[in-house]
Amino acid sequence: MPAQILDGRRIAQQMRRKLRAARDALGPRPIRLVSVEVGQNPAAAVYVRNQQRGATEVGIEMEARNLPLQSTETQLLAMIRDLNHHPEVSGVIVQRPLPPGIDPRVVQSAIDPHKDVEGMHPANMGAILYREPTMPPCTAAAAQELALATGMDLRGAETVVVGHSEIVGKPIAVLLLHRLSTVTVCHVGTRRLVDHTRRADILVVAVGKAGLVHGDMVKPGACVIDVGINQGPDGKIVGDVDFASASAVAGWITPVPGGVGPVTVAMLLRNTLRAAGAAI
Ligand code: NAP
Repeated sequence: MPAQILDGRRIAQQMRRKLRAARDALGPRPIRLVSVEVGQNPAAAVYVRNQQRGATEVGIEMEARNLPLQSTETQLLAMIRDLNHHPEVSGVIVQRPLPPGIDPRVVQSAIDPHKDVEGMHPANMGAILYREPTMPPCTAAAAQELALATGMDLRGAETVVVGHSEIVGKPIAVLLLHRLSTVTVCHVGTRRLVDHTRRADILVVAVGKAGLVHGDMVKPGACVIDVGINQGPDGKIVGDVDFASASAVAGWITPVPGGVGPVTVAMLLRNTLRAAGAAI
């Protein structure tokens, strides 16, 4: 039987309804989210548009700022400092990629952790180890939400995360570990990836390589969460998982686009409302 589709757009829509109610409970004061981009990147433009659309629906004012491509790290940090001190700004996002010469880690660490709605400040990253994720990294939180949406019991499930980046793979592994999944993290040092992926009840792939995982690497009935975003030769966006072959084997699978991406945006909006004081 072909896999059930984990429809990220639908799950995000349901989340936005709940977020709207939480936002309304905060009263009429404006809630502002500021996105800063250095230069102009077509992929970032798509993210910003999606974030703005979601923010409007939830009742968050999102302002998109652009700094010229030639801007220095010092200039960007000065803008972040201003936003950190701005009483009406609840959340700050810095869009990636940043131009060479600007260190994303320095920039992320400069954002006030209480306004770090992407959950990437070391303080927020560290908090997830202590199970206190007020502002968890959005993509990791989205992957967890999608796994929960299957109704599978995560306790004791064999979970394999492919990719160990700081902002995606590692926090996903930690969040699912808190659910008492038995988590294996695979990376470039992994000897035979297939030996791990084939025994995964939950397989999360976050690498950035189209076609890395095929159906013959998936355990029948598994939940496959494809975080990857890649542009195919025809310009189409595809994930890291070969959807056609994997969906013939898996029990659940996220499409790309329309899987992890929309839920990630919903998590960003949730973090923004939390930063503004919402109990959600
Ligand atoms: P990244 O920083 O480039 O990390 C990729 C990870 O994959 C690294 O840990 C890398 O290991 C590992 N890796 C590389 N080749 C591998 C292989 N053959 N087998 C196993 N692991 C391998 O990328 P990222 O920021 O984590 O993002 C991963 C993907 O998710 C990208 O396609 C990105 O566009 C997408 N993404 C999607 C969303 C969303 O909302 N849907 C959000 C964020 C990112 P080494 O470091 O050891 O090389």
